[in-house]
Amino acid sequence: MTTEILKKIKHLDHFINGEFRSSASGEVFKTMNPATGDVLATVSLGTAKEIDEAVKSAKHAFEHGPWPKMSLKERCAILKRIGDIILERKAEIALAETLDTGKPITESLEGDIPRSAMNFHFFADYAQTLETECFTGSPTEKHFAVREPLGVAGLITPWNLPLYLATWKIAPALVMGNTCVLKPAEWTPYTATLLGGIANDAGLPPGVLNIVHGFGANGAGEALTRHPDVSCISFTGETTTGKAIMASASSTLKKLSFELGGKGANIIFEDADLEEAIPTAVRAGFRNQGQICLAGSRLYVQEGIFDKVIEQLTKQVKAIRVGDPQDPQTQMGAIISKEQLEKVEKYVKLGEQEGKVLAGGERLKEFAQGNWLAPTLIAGIDNSSKLCQEEIFGPVLTVVPFASEEEVIAYTNSTTYGLSASLWSKDAARCERVAKQIKTGIVWVNCWFVRDLRTPFGGQKASGIGREGGRWSLEFFSEAKTITYKYKE
Ligand code: NAD
Repeated sequence: MTTEILKKIKHLDHFINGEFRSSASGEVFKTMNPATGDVLATVSLGTAKEIDEAVKSAKHAFEHGPWPKMSLKERCAILKRIGDIILERKAEIALAETLDTGKPITESLEGDIPRSAMNFHFFADYAQTLETECFTGSPTEKHFAVREPLGVAGLITPWNLPLYLATWKIAPALVMGNTCVLKPAEWTPYTATLLGGIANDAGLPPGVLNIVHGFGANGAGEALTRHPDVSCISFTGETTTGKAIMASASSTLKKLSFELGGKGANIIFEDADLEEAIPTAVRAGFRNQGQICLAGSRLYVQEGIFDKVIEQLTKQVKAIRVGDPQDPQTQMGAIISKEQLEKVEKYVKLGEQEGKVLAGGERLKEFAQGNWLAPTLIAGIDNSSKLCQEEIFGPVLTVVPFASEEEVIAYTNSTTYGLSASLWSKDAARCERVAKQIKTGIVWVNCWFVRDLRTPFGGQKASGIGREGGRWSLEFFSEAKTITYKYKE
């Protein structure tokens, strides 16, 4: 039944002012199924013209529409309805996400799609707990710190967690009373388009959410960052793209939030619980085909347990069930594109030259038309290797031994990135000591990918600027204003 619905949607349009529209030029591009190489749908190709239309619609909705004037409670009720509809249509949306990304259906059904609904539910609940601060230094003065929406928010998202990351930005932007224009990744436009229809069904007023498909540099993405009526850009993607956006947004002086690349370290000390640490290291390396900014793609193992860990790790990596993303038993699916596959393969070659490939390394013959690489484990390399320093963003896990706390802290902090790290040890004092010296936005102790949406999420160094999550997101999508009252004595 749900497959039938998806079969009918063979063309994806922009969503502007509550309507689905093609581009003025009639131009389209294709979105492919990474698992099979088949064309999934044609997509209207947006340019500066469609971005301008979308921004005009968002600006009109902000200045003249009901959205910013509604009570917070009314806005939250609509956002919660969007979350409810996502859950009601979970099977269909999950299938669309799997077909568009190549990720296992279980991952879409149990991870991406429920989390997308949760983003709306969470921010709707959380925003209603916010208090307005009042400073009363003198009995004759009251200084209120109020939060006001910014106007039109520009949102630009990547392909690895398409609906999950789009809704992570849309929900806080809208709950604060902004309107927005989303430019989803060109590789994965499907579920964003479905969200447009869901927004209408939930009663979101026209123009509050607008979606324009297209490319980044010299395309719709760049046009959004340059548009004078866009107040802020919330961007998730590569570090190099963040730098380009900072430059293009500077002429119109926009507020910026950047969630960029990562090169997560996963540290296993000799006293770690290996029953937990090893399977988690495998998940951290290969979940979503290793295409997660938070992936634990660099594994550091203390010398005394190195051989034992390598033996178990190799077995577990070889046992990962790679295959048809629509099969509920599948644990690892396809890589997003041919380009990404070729980029990852260059790193595998480097691993063969510099060290030893202990598992994987080859394309999967049974899926000749798609973008498939067996889960790959590489050892025998130095920490200074590109394999340990650059973001690969694919199913490749490197393992390097270390002798001491000092050495592994230096290894962990040696990359330009600073998003996340995990450490495994039964010694609580050591965990605290090491966690404090790691230069990342997130440190997990004896776990990985455990999230509370109220906490700050983001990276240090080349991994980002600013934080998302809880009040950090709500602060970004609002302007603080002081209103002072002076009374007569
Ligand atoms: P990307 O930077 O290539 O593209 C991301 C988005 O930016 C796309 O929508 C693209 O069209 C747009 N874009 C590209 N160039 C642009 C430009 N000059 N101006 C405006 N928009 C432009 O990233 P990707 O390949 O889609 O995603 C993978 C990257 O995202 C990895 O580096 C990964 O670590 C990062 N990522 C980070 C987080 C995080 O929270 N820190 C989460 C997920 C992914």
